[in-house]
Amino acid sequence: MDEANLKLRCIPAIDKLMAAAENTPLSKAPRNTLTGILRELTEKARLMIKSGKDTDTSVEGILAWAEMLLAIKSKSSLQRVVNATGVVLHTNLGRAPLSNRAQKAVAGVMGSYSNLEYDAASGERGLRYAHVMEKLKQVTGGEDALVVNNNAAAVLLALSALAKDREVIVSRGELVEIGGSFRIPDVMKQSGARLVEVGTTNKTHLRDYEEAITPETGAILKVHTSNYRIVGFTAQPAAERLADLAHNRGIPVIEDLGSGVLIPLSVGGWQEPTAAARLANGFDLVTFSGDKLLGAGQAGIIAGKSCYINKMKRHPLLRALRIDKLSLAALEGTLQDYTLGNPYDDIPVLHMLTAEYEELRSRAEALLAALSQLPGGEWTTEILGVNSQTGGGAFPAIDLPGWAVSVASRRISPDHLAEKLRLRDIPIIVRLQDDKVLLDVRCLIMNDMEDIAEAFKEIMDITEPKEEAGY
Ligand SMILES: *Cc1c(COP(=O)(O)O)cnc(C)c1O
Repeated sequence: MDEANLKLRCIPAIDKLMAAAENTPLSKAPRNTLTGILRELTEKARLMIKSGKDTDTSVEGILAWAEMLLAIKSKSSLQRVVNATGVVLHTNLGRAPLSNRAQKAVAGVMGSYSNLEYDAASGERGLRYAHVMEKLKQVTGGEDALVVNNNAAAVLLALSALAKDREVIVSRGELVEIGGSFRIPDVMKQSGARLVEVGTTNKTHLRDYEEAITPETGAILKVHTSNYRIVGFTAQPAAERLADLAHNRGIPVIEDLGSGVLIPLSVGGWQEPTAAARLANGFDLVTFSGDKLLGAGQAGIIAGKSCYINKMKRHPLLRALRIDKLSLAALEGTLQDYTLGNPYDDIPVLHMLTAEYEELRSRAEALLAALSQLPGGEWTTEILGVNSQTGGGAFPAIDLPGWAVSVASRRISPDHLAEKLRLRDIPIIVRLQDDKVLLDVRCLIMNDMEDIAEAFKEIMDITEPKEEAGY
């Protein structure tokens, strides 16, 4: 028998490994999970031996590997990361972090039963929407409001309930695509409404809408150009005039606002229309996201006239699009920040977007000080003025001046450094710009700064002087 075959025969049987695991921490794992891990490891050992590599096939060796693998599998896949990119509403990083009040609201119901659809006063069935309805009416000025899973669902529901088999007029400048899969023409088709495009990319006049109205028209839809801006020779009718036109012809105007800003917010000198402003302009319905500028969890909000919202409440799609109780709790908590608190301070995304230049500067100085452990000569750290972004379909192409700490090492390339920062227990996501690793301080919260300092300490300790020498 050749050497490899001998080695293969040395791989312990699963039964034997299971028996040996009995007095180790592994015994706490469910049997199925443990046998799965042991099979995975013995199979790996088999492959290594077959390809001529050496591996430890002792019972102790395999059990030690099993403990490591179990520890890896015990970690959640969905986890906290540090956002040092400076993009406030980063869709890939989960959009808005929740306020304290919203976190408490979620924690208050997540491990127990709740009155989600129960009216404790009467002992009768209640409505899940009731928990946020009054608050939404207060912050939007709408007669009524409804909440669904996200804003894409809100638009789909509004079009399905109000304009199925009818025409919906949209300006050519507003045929938006958001993040690849949400495209206004596609959502329209899905709802059963027929898209009628009017105007041109840069200019749409009131008369364009007027001429497109027929007995077949179900609604006029305005769409916020969330991720692009049309500048230069442009025109669109004032909201009030469009609302008057629609009402004279007996049709509703709906606006997909996207970002859901509820209070006046000036970013880089720009403002986006609030839900309340649009309803005050005379629009019948507005829809917007819960986890963009509103600052809560994923949700889609519809506010406006009761007669239209009642149609949506009765629509069969509502059940398929309904919001989950944890998102609802987060939304209620965040809405209380608006109605009872100080939203600019209490809601993390609003605070990040309105943070004073000086506040950011002193945060950058604190981060620089936290990184002073990095040995000079090999590492260079400095504070740089940067432009952050709002992200998440709000304030497109508007720079937010702020500060970052740039970190460079003579031994590790920026790409490699960024990778090392990502491949930790708590990943740190940085910005790479002009061949530099930038830690934008705008979106740092909680213990982020300590985690960044800790990360660099780890990287320093494991970076051998010979690694990538000469970079
Ligand atoms: C973001 C956005 C959407 C999609 O909202 P979700 O809450 O992500 O589903 C739809 N329309 C506009 C204009 C948006 O900005």
